[in-house]
Amino acid sequence: MLDPFGRSIEYLRLSITDRCNLRCRYCMPEDGVAPLAHGDILSYEELLRVARSCVALGIRKIRVTGGEPLVRRGVVDFIAQLTALPETPKVVLTTNGLLLAEMAAPLKAAGLKRVNVSLDTLRSERFAALTRRGGLDQVLAGIAAAEAVGLNPVKVNVIPLRGINDDELVDFARLTLDHPWEVRFIEFMPISPDLEYGSTARVPMIEVERQLQSLGALEPLPRRKSAGPARLFRLPGARGSLGLIPSVSGHFCPECNRLRVTADGRVRGCLFGNQEIDLKLVLRGGGDDAALVELLRAAICAKPEKHAIGSPEFTAPNRRMQGIGG
Ligand code: SAM
Ligand code: SF4
Repeated sequence: MLDPFGRSIEYLRLSITDRCNLRCRYCMPEDGVAPLAHGDILSYEELLRVARSCVALGIRKIRVTGGEPLVRRGVVDFIAQLTALPETPKVVLTTNGLLLAEMAAPLKAAGLKRVNVSLDTLRSERFAALTRRGGLDQVLAGIAAAEAVGLNPVKVNVIPLRGINDDELVDFARLTLDHPWEVRFIEFMPISPDLEYGSTARVPMIEVERQLQSLGALEPLPRRKSAGPARLFRLPGARGSLGLIPSVSGHFCPECNRLRVTADGRVRGCLFGNQEIDLKLVLRGGGDDAALVELLRAAICAKPEKHAIGSPEFTAPNRRMQGIGG
C-alpha cells in the first residue's frame, strides 16, 4: 500500500515483548522500566492476526523484535506461524544474541530467514559495563551458531558511541576479513533524554567511514533492497561486508517503507513520532479482520512525511527503543 507521500509500505517491525535480559545503558535505565502488565501484551494469536492483516495490505517483510524477542516463550512456534502466512512474508529477527546459540537451529527450522545481532563491543569487561549484565561469549557463540545453521548473512549491528566503543570500530570491521558477516554501523539516536547518553555520544557516520578507511579502500557494493538504508562496502579481500547507516544525519524519510507495532498493540508510523493507534480496540473489541485492516490503513495514511529530530520542534518519543523495537 502507498502512503500519502507515495512510499510503498512493505516492512513491519513487530515487537513481541518489552522485557529484556540486558540493560544496555543507551537503551534502558538501570532499574529497567516498569514492565507492561501481562494482560496488556498481545497474545501470539493477536500478533498473528495483526501480521496477517499487514500482509493483506502489502507487507512482505516482518522483523520480530522487542525488548529481547528470544526471552518470550513460544517465539519459535510463533515464527513458524508467521512464515506460513499467505504470501510467505520474509521473517527476520533482531536480537542481542544471548540466547541465540541454543535457538539458532530451531529458528532456522521454523523458517526464519536471517538474524541481526546487536553487539557494541568485543571486550568482555566493556560488554558487561555497557549492558550492565555481561555475556559476550554467549553472544559470540550465538553469532557462530546462526552462521552455522545458515541464517546468512548474519548481520552484526554496532552503535558507535563516543568515548565508549569508538576505539573498536576498526576491530569490528576487521571481523569481515575472515567471517562472511555484514557488520553494520548504525548512528546512535538520542531519543531518551533521561538516559546517560545524549547527542554528544553520537559518532557521525562520516567519521566512522574515515576510521574504516585506515584498513584500505572501501569498495562500494551494489545496493540491495534488503539492506534498507545501509550503504554497503567491502574491505579488500574480505569475506563479509560493511554497512554504514547514518540514521540521524542521513535523511531516509523519503524511502521509509516501515510500520511498527509495539508489544501492547499500538501501531506507529514513525520511530521518532508519538502518533499511535491502539489495535486492541479491534483485537479485543470484537472487531473483525476487515476492521483491523482499516486501523492499519489509517496508520499508514498518518505516516508523517519526515521526522523532526535535530530541529527545534522535535520532542522525544513517548517510548524508549526497547518499548518500540528499534
Ligand atoms: N534486544 C534486541 C537487540 O538489542 O537487538 C532487539 C531490540 S533493540 C531495542 C533493537 C535495536 O535498537 C538494537 O540494535 C539496539 O542496539 C538499537 N538501539 C537501542 N537504543 C538505540 C538508540 N538510542 N539509538 C540507536 N539504536 C538503538
Ligand atoms: Fe535490551 Fe536490546 Fe535495549 Fe539492549 S538494546 S537493553 S538488548 S532491548
